[in-house]
Amino acid sequence: MLNLVLFGPPGAGKGTQSEKLIAQYQLVHLSTGDLLRSEIRGGTELGLRAKMLMDQGILVPDEVVIGMIENKLKENESAAGFIFDGFPRTVPQAEALDELLALHNTQIKVMVALVVDEDELTKRLLIRGQSSGRPDDQNEALIHRRIKEYNDKTAPVANYYESQGKFKAIGGIGNIEEIFQAICAEIETVTANVRQ
Ligand code: ADP
Repeated sequence: MLNLVLFGPPGAGKGTQSEKLIAQYQLVHLSTGDLLRSEIRGGTELGLRAKMLMDQGILVPDEVVIGMIENKLKENESAAGFIFDGFPRTVPQAEALDELLALHNTQIKVMVALVVDEDELTKRLLIRGQSSGRPDDQNEALIHRRIKEYNDKTAPVANYYESQGKFKAIGGIGNIEEIFQAICAEIETVTANVRQ
């Protein structure tokens, strides 16, 4: 299985690149942000609780997102692989993901991190907020809160994968197609190594 983690701060381009990667490698897309927004639309108890945190730019509790990922892994036993987008966002989530994948006799092959500076992220998110209607993209203070949450809790996840020799950083500013090709080149390198 080709299991990838697409990593980076809010607005780095994970959603855009995920779509292209799914088409290229026939992967199942698991975005915890999308799963949470679907719970909110459905008006579930979980959705209501998550919304209060998401509207403040704060991460939802680890057990909530881990439970959602666990269900999705079970639902997609025969997938060619998964692309994890916006998850894991904390070190305990990364540890839980390793355990869940081990239960399915598989593992993460590579984490690709999209690197984008804060000024560019803020610009992109404010533009996205105009068309997406996402409440967490419409207010600059809230965007800063999310980037701070990323720097405090999520950035250490990169070290977790670095220590497993799975971390690859890619510049996330510039032409979307060129960034995609750079990600594919990393994936090809990793899968070629695995076959040897
Ligand atoms: P972005 O990457 O643009 O911040 P997401 O759609 O991935 O957006 O996430 C939106 C919000 O959902 C986050 O700010 C957070 O509150 C919550 N969320 C998403 N994924 C996770 C996760 N793995 N752990 C905790 N909270 C999460």
